[in-house]
Amino acid sequence: MITRRLMVRESGVVIPELVGSVSQALHAAGCALVEFTFDYIPLPCPGGAVGATELINLDLHCHSTHSDGTLRPDELVARAAQRGVEVLALTDHDDTGGLAEAHAAARRLGLRLIDGVEISVTWRGQTVHIVGLGIDPGNSILQTGLATTRAGRAARAEKMAAALDSLGIQGSLDGARALAENPQLVSRTHFARFLVQGGVVKDVKSAFKRFLGAGQPCFVPHQWANLADAVGWIKASGGMAVIAHPGRYPFDTGQLRDLLSEFRALGGAAIEVVTSSHKPHQYATYAAHARQYGLAASAGSDFHSPQESFHDLGQLPALPCGCVPVWNALGVS
Ligand code: AMP
Ligand code: MN
Ligand code: MN
Ligand code: MN
Repeated sequence: MITRRLMVRESGVVIPELVGSVSQALHAAGCALVEFTFDYIPLPCPGGAVGATELINLDLHCHSTHSDGTLRPDELVARAAQRGVEVLALTDHDDTGGLAEAHAAARRLGLRLIDGVEISVTWRGQTVHIVGLGIDPGNSILQTGLATTRAGRAARAEKMAAALDSLGIQGSLDGARALAENPQLVSRTHFARFLVQGGVVKDVKSAFKRFLGAGQPCFVPHQWANLADAVGWIKASGGMAVIAHPGRYPFDTGQLRDLLSEFRALGGAAIEVVTSSHKPHQYATYAAHARQYGLAASAGSDFHSPQESFHDLGQLPALPCGCVPVWNALGVS
């Protein structure tokens, strides 16, 4: 058997056919397909490339230790640069404290850093994340809004710990706090890591599935910012608001339509089309939603940790044809 690594270039919609034709070709040549590497580079758009990212390696969503990432901002930027990222947005949850350090590293390494944040919002009883890109972290309206959004986390962490206690899992409050470098940003991810370290679950995903995810026994409902406020804070600071990973929310078609039109009416700029939360077949779906609602498209890995994140920095596929890239408005082209 000949073992070789195959790099397949495709458009995102023809994977089964492509695998089939590659397997057949190899079979005919007396080889076996042993590994299928998925290098997502789109075919050229008919009529000219609009929104393709072939020319620039860019990642507009990731996390550092200032929220629930495991790399410090300078380590994160170094990893991005090392993996070929040219334009990176640091988008910590509800906090911009990592941006200064990230900028210093980006200057040293010749990478362009976009100031970002990911704001936790409650919309119709569900948590929705709104990314702000090109924000001014010195803006007081934004900072007051973020401080208000962070404020409920301490009490929520106590309630989550009490729920874990009642299941016989002790010490989670101290444990999660010890894992959170930003004391104002104790998140469910820190509780999940505590559960992994204690051997209660095998990985972070299982911690959400069994204990911390919506509907699970230690889930504590929380009222985050409202959508209009979050979009308003981002815009007040000169940024663009982007709905993060729209495919992750438990909305039906009507609710998603309402979210997108309300967001657009509030002055929202874009939705994430390419994100690690979407399967490749969803890229086209959300590209179509973006077009339909007059929104631009964004792309980000949502990278949190080398150990936990399925998609690393610097690996993002291009936007599908026909998207208007949100980064055009950030002066990146
Ligand atoms: P919090 O803001 O404290 O509610 O924590 C939300 C964070 O938890 C998200 O930003 C993700 O990083 C992480 N998270 C949520 N759901 C999951 C899941 N099912 N698996 C792994 N991480 C998750
Ligand atoms: Mn997170
Ligand atoms: Mn998110
Ligand atoms: Mn995120």
